[in-house]
Amino acid sequence: MSFYGKKIKTLLLSGLLISGSSLVMATTASAADCNNDMNCASSWLNLSASDKKTVFAFGENYKGFMDKARSELTFVTEAVKMAKASGFKELKDTSPMTPGARYYDINRDRAVSLIVIGTQDFKEGFHVIGSHIDSPRFELKNVPLYEKGDFALFQTNYHGGLKIHQWTNIPLALIGRVDKKDGTTVQINIGMNENDPVFVIAEISPHTDRGYKDKTVAQLVTAEDMDPIIAHIPSNDDKGLSDQVEQHLKTTYGITRGDLVSAELLLVPAMKSRDMGFDRGLIAAYGQDDRLASYTNVRAIMDIKIPTKTAVAYLVDNEEVGNVNNTGAKSQYFSNLIARLVEAKLGVDYRESYVRRAISNSQMISIDVNPGINPMRPDAWEQTNGPRLGYGVNLKLYGQGFNANSEYIAYIRKILDDDDIPWQTATYKVGAAGGGTIGGEFSRQDMDVIDFGVPVLSIHTPYAVSSKVDIYNLYRACNIFFKK
Ligand SMILES: [Zn+2]
Repeated sequence: MSFYGKKIKTLLLSGLLISGSSLVMATTASAADCNNDMNCASSWLNLSASDKKTVFAFGENYKGFMDKARSELTFVTEAVKMAKASGFKELKDTSPMTPGARYYDINRDRAVSLIVIGTQDFKEGFHVIGSHIDSPRFELKNVPLYEKGDFALFQTNYHGGLKIHQWTNIPLALIGRVDKKDGTTVQINIGMNENDPVFVIAEISPHTDRGYKDKTVAQLVTAEDMDPIIAHIPSNDDKGLSDQVEQHLKTTYGITRGDLVSAELLLVPAMKSRDMGFDRGLIAAYGQDDRLASYTNVRAIMDIKIPTKTAVAYLVDNEEVGNVNNTGAKSQYFSNLIARLVEAKLGVDYRESYVRRAISNSQMISIDVNPGINPMRPDAWEQTNGPRLGYGVNLKLYGQGFNANSEYIAYIRKILDDDDIPWQTATYKVGAAGGGTIGGEFSRQDMDVIDFGVPVLSIHTPYAVSSKVDIYNLYRACNIFFKK
């Protein structure tokens, strides 16, 4: 404890020394000194009043965005809205590749890239930051409607790694799209507005389940049980409840039971993002894995002008289910995008070897939040390598061949330290934890890739918890990487 006090004193002094800049926050004497040092100071310490204001203002915008971007589909819509307001234009085959030009490219409504052209030749490589925009949730099966007892319900499946029981007895919103045979799309968004109804997966109460304490969590409720109640008032003319729901869907949205076969309808927590704690230093919100990183990624590329290397923010779908499908990171979309940029630049001189060189010389940060040390069970981490909320971005060093090459880690450390961005590392307890990211899909393409994260509590639950100062510092880290 005495060592802790001593260290803070030094940090305070350095805070005074660099407090003149508005962007460079007075955080730590040297971020590197703090790495893995359990006596190291929190990034909250030494924030000037104006720094703290900036951190909180960023948090307000983040919460507002998160309440609209509840799925990969709505993330793309909201991100493109922001990008357009910041001068990004749709990428076309004839778009000029002049330094400073800003483009967006949407992949099938479920993934999006934001691009700012740099001064360097494409074949010197790009600076890419990738993050995913899908989050764990439930989704409707494609023949979802059924009745049981006095209720109508939806059959569901799940997306991502979940502790099933955590998703019962909370308000759920139904969002997504229904595609009809005539080529039209119906957008569905029920439950996020105050006056909307919500849906609940109603778990059995303790009164009627006295033996529940002897059951394991997995026995309490199974994935096949996770069906929300959607209707309850019987009809006087003996129409079944599911017929009534079908009629409601037809009248309100013009869709039939058959149309639900070609639909992507998700059940997501309807709780809005909120400040947490007396001091309001934390944010509780649904979908912070990984829309926290994705939001900072978008904000960071919006705030650059003319970078040296062309900057690409790649926001991708389906990470939670293994990077699959043509909108996931395993898709050829990314290399096709680079090929399109090269073709727009070289015209008839386009050649494949140039594209390959551009990809191979690219450097990437793959960002995905990760669990931070949780006061409920701090022993889930081995403390010397565990990431702490409020202590900055974390470099994921999972070992066993998954680390970035050490020279690339050193390059990243330098970028962060040069700008006084606090960082730490994260290495799971050996053999006791794990998790995937999109990073591997890009190192496979011969790029330099490092996995970044931000420690968040309760990821993959309906309501995760992040530290406002980490969100802002992740934005700064992304921004400085794009600027290089
Ligand atoms: Zn994730």
